[in-house]
Amino acid sequence: MSELFVRTLREDPADAEVPSHRWLVRAGYIRRVAPGLYSWLPLGYRVLRKVEEIVREEMDAIGAQEVHFPALLPREPYEATGRWAEYGDGMFRLRDRKGADYLLGPTHEEMFTLLVKDLYSSYKDLPLSLYQIQTKYRDEARPRAGLLRGREFVMKDSYSFDVDEEGLQKSYDLHRDAYIKIFNRLGFEYVIVHAMSGAMGGSASEEFLALAEYGEDTFVRSPGGYAANVEAVRVPPPPEVPYHDAPPAHVEDTPDTPTIETLVALANARFPRSDQSWQPSDTLKNVVFSVKEIDGSRHPLAIGLPGDREVDLKRLAAQLEPAEAEPFSDADFTSHPLLVKGYVGPQVLGLNSPSKIKYLVDPRVVSGTRWVTGANVPGRHVFDLVCGRDFTPDGTIEAAEIKNGDPAPDGSGPLRLARGIEMGHIFQLGKKYAEALGLKVLDQNGKLVTVIMGSYGVGVSRAVAAVAEGTADEKGLCWPRELAPYDVQLLATGKDEALLASAVDLAVQLDEAGVRVLLDDRRASPGVKFADAELMGIPTIVIIGRGLAEGRIELRDRRSGEERQVAVADALAEIVAVVHGRSAAT
Ligand code: ATP
Ligand code: MG
Repeated sequence: MSELFVRTLREDPADAEVPSHRWLVRAGYIRRVAPGLYSWLPLGYRVLRKVEEIVREEMDAIGAQEVHFPALLPREPYEATGRWAEYGDGMFRLRDRKGADYLLGPTHEEMFTLLVKDLYSSYKDLPLSLYQIQTKYRDEARPRAGLLRGREFVMKDSYSFDVDEEGLQKSYDLHRDAYIKIFNRLGFEYVIVHAMSGAMGGSASEEFLALAEYGEDTFVRSPGGYAANVEAVRVPPPPEVPYHDAPPAHVEDTPDTPTIETLVALANARFPRSDQSWQPSDTLKNVVFSVKEIDGSRHPLAIGLPGDREVDLKRLAAQLEPAEAEPFSDADFTSHPLLVKGYVGPQVLGLNSPSKIKYLVDPRVVSGTRWVTGANVPGRHVFDLVCGRDFTPDGTIEAAEIKNGDPAPDGSGPLRLARGIEMGHIFQLGKKYAEALGLKVLDQNGKLVTVIMGSYGVGVSRAVAAVAEGTADEKGLCWPRELAPYDVQLLATGKDEALLASAVDLAVQLDEAGVRVLLDDRRASPGVKFADAELMGIPTIVIIGRGLAEGRIELRDRRSGEERQVAVADALAEIVAVVHGRSAAT
């Protein structure tokens, strides 16, 4: 410790939003360079390499082979797949001295596809899985939470290549099993959820989410075991309702009711229902967005959903990707005079309507459902407007918020919401990249077929933070043994030279026994040494102090705080047993 390049901090860094960030900086594992950019200090770098090692071992175990691409990549392959445009502001772009365009790789599908195309040509060469552990660059809109969302970060990405769907399924299953092993070894609690495949195209897709209160991903679980990222939840549509006996739609004066609450209150006061009171879910809220396509063009999109729900902007974004939705501005309303802000109704919406504005509805808005909704006149609403009779949407969209207690798609009961951090993502890409870049092989019949790919990512640097997040306590970091930068932190607490000499002696013996020891040989007070050891989170703390005079030293478990005295003569064997998990106590 007297030589280790580290300075622990007693105060939280000002920009730390989440525990992992706070503790990793305070314990001297990482230092911030700029938003989303961090330097790894010796302690942190050891943990990062341990995560890499676990990932490497499990990838090698399924027969995947490690390669390494540049991080600096030419534009052309990304142009060919459309991602040069699709990635938008998220990609770091640069020019060389000759004016040629380059990028810093945010993910490498194109490069792997081209490499395999370069060298392989027959079904006999497949299946193949390749991976790399690589620094990735993404100009994230909100780099936050330290390593959890960096602009430069370490990812393991792998890609599988098969001749047919069956092969792809096998490669996918192998990766899925490898990921289960990786995340079990990393030692945090996680769930596997259905996911959207996003900008990459493709079909089957699952995410591994670490359970975390501060996670950016919201997912749902059902009593029957269904689990999905909220972005991927498909709302089960209710049965259609017959509407032959529905009264005709009628427009009513509803002054000063621009919000659902004011509308429901007024409806109950002025137009009471005979069966029950009006609820927000009886109203149809129409929210208009301005959609920006990747070519820069814009068009409005109206979304109709039950008034007791908001549009979930992440769910909407996942549906529209790579296009983006922005709120409809006052200027937009001015240039679309058919839309009356606060009173927008379906009768002026739809591609075939006078406004020609695309109108998509929540899946709950099925044929025969009856609504109270805007009449496209200030201060007026229409009642008993029947879907399928009085208006016909252009389709449905999964953009409404998912609420705790919503019925699960598997019919097993209510959905429960929770938060997590995306640690890994596996998905069946299909032929998108192989088609765009012409990766074909000859099949058994001598026919050229397009290769089918899968793509699989693990957030390696993010895992360091996620494990820290999941294991830290109120005193600091608390590493699981497999990831800890050292096995033992050995504290010499006292001024006596003989005490330090014994500590050095034990450290040397432990070192020879293959135990990685961090010896605190500083001329600092015991209080400082204890506090630093707790902050740094090395799993076993050994204290050589006052007890030495009676031939005793102390072993302390960082996580449980459990302490025990052992005789000096037994110390080596005891510590080795603890470190190798052969001892029940400590
Ligand atoms: P997110 O939704 O969190 O932005 P993503 O869907 O963009 O993630 P992928 O493109 O699937 O992520 O990347 C694979 C893995 O890389 C993710 O599962 C995650 O663990 C990690 N990762 C992605 N973006 C970042 C980032 N900005 N910082 C650290 N790790 C990241
Ligand atoms: Mg992302």
